[in-house]
Amino acid sequence: MPAEPPIEVPVRLSEAYSLLAGGPLVPIAGGTDIMVRITGELGPVPERMLDLSRLDELEGISLEDGSLALGARTTYTELRRSTLCREHAPALVEAAATIGAAQIQNRGTLGGNIANASPAGDTLPVLLAMDADIEVGGHRGERRVPAAGFFPGYRQTALAPDELILRIRIPLAAGRVTRFRKVGTRRAQAISKVVMAVSWRAHGPSAGWSDVRVALGSVAATPIRAAAAEAALEGARPSPETADAAAEALADELTPIDDVRSTGDYRRMVAARILHRIVRDAGGW
Ligand SMILES: Cc1cc2nc3c(=O)[nH]c(=O)nc-3n(C[C@H](O)[C@H](O)[C@H](O)COP(=O)(O)OP(=O)(O)OC[C@H]3O[C@@H](n4cnc5c(N)ncnc54)[C@H](O)[C@@H]3O)c2cc1C
Repeated sequence: MPAEPPIEVPVRLSEAYSLLAGGPLVPIAGGTDIMVRITGELGPVPERMLDLSRLDELEGISLEDGSLALGARTTYTELRRSTLCREHAPALVEAAATIGAAQIQNRGTLGGNIANASPAGDTLPVLLAMDADIEVGGHRGERRVPAAGFFPGYRQTALAPDELILRIRIPLAAGRVTRFRKVGTRRAQAISKVVMAVSWRAHGPSAGWSDVRVALGSVAATPIRAAAAEAALEGARPSPETADAAAEALADELTPIDDVRSTGDYRRMVAARILHRIVRDAGGW
């Protein structure tokens, strides 16, 4: 195993910004992804690292300006225990509960899941479906990027090398419902074959849906929104015909790859069935 890289430990965000401005540094939050890379078996070992564990500015869960704000260092355990998250983002709590086991949930962070940008990252479809914004910052200033625009390519993000993820903002939308489903090899401790979050607004169980979002992971190079499935659901009521049309539209628009975890055909079929089931459950039939 290679020697441990040197690590900077800033205690204030401004200090972290200055360190990042001075040269390439790889941030480490919970370390559940990055420590796997430190062996050198999965690519180059980081030359220098930046420990985020003392940065209080990246902590906390609160309601601010009509949104649920989650610090980048929020762990899955904190998310699961948060009353605010359970009330305003239950689908994110459900996603957190499927990630790894207790040890990973105690250390792994929401910011780390986003920055790691795996197409199989389980929180990412929820953030897309809930129209979350990712707040990032560096020595040039701070900015917000919509989750839908945060993943430009395979394992790429909108972050500059000298920027950090600061917090995640999920707008509170009246009447919004979000559902989460994950299918893996096992019911627990599995990387997703398909992960999906569907969000809509409706005034009553049989009312027409608006602001529909269908977001998926593990079916493309990045987490994606499924435009055709969304169009099939927008304005519709959750009837059997709507479920059929949306599932068909989704199957037609997805072109997942075959890989070690699954075949593309299986992923397409499962994704369509998950969506069908979500619409069916929403309609109560
Ligand atoms: C056994 C095991 C099981 C797992 N199961 C799942 C699973 O079921 N689903 C799933 O989605 N993931 C899973 N993971 C992956 C991992 O736990 C998550 O992606 C986790 O959220 C990563 O967070 P972290 O804080 O540990 O990130 P770290 O490992 O500290 O960092 C990950 C990446 O993000 C960067 N980074 C971290 N924080 C910031 C920040 N604030 N700003 C900028 N960059 C930052 C780091 O530089 C690094 O590139 C699993 C991992 C393991 C080891």
